[in-house]
Amino acid sequence: MSFQDKLLQCSDCGQEFTFTAGEQEFYSSRGLQNEPRRCPECRRARKAERYGSDGYGNRSPRRMFPVVCAQCGKDTEVPFEPRDDRPVYCSECYTKVRSSSER
Ligand SMILES: [Zn+2]
Ligand SMILES: [Zn+2]
Repeated sequence: MSFQDKLLQCSDCGQEFTFTAGEQEFYSSRGLQNEPRRCPECRRARKAERYGSDGYGNRSPRRMFPVVCAQCGKDTEVPFEPRDDRPVYCSECYTKVRSSSER
């Protein structure tokens, strides 16, 4: 397969940028079908933003786990996987439990 430089338009800033033959080769070697939608600058900016926001560069939405509050028995959801050896509370009870144990 041979590649040729391609001119693409950035979907963020609208500027044209070159999707070089080398990059296309790299993309296809990684099995990536999609062409980049953003110019290198915007890609870098977005990456920096993402890494800054959660520290992991993880784009998937935070998963919520349905649990029953150990304090009031209410159905609720928590952003972490509940473990058997730890009681899980709804946000209200969590605040109460935490503030009482801190004292
Ligand atoms: Zn751009
Ligand atoms: Zn509760």
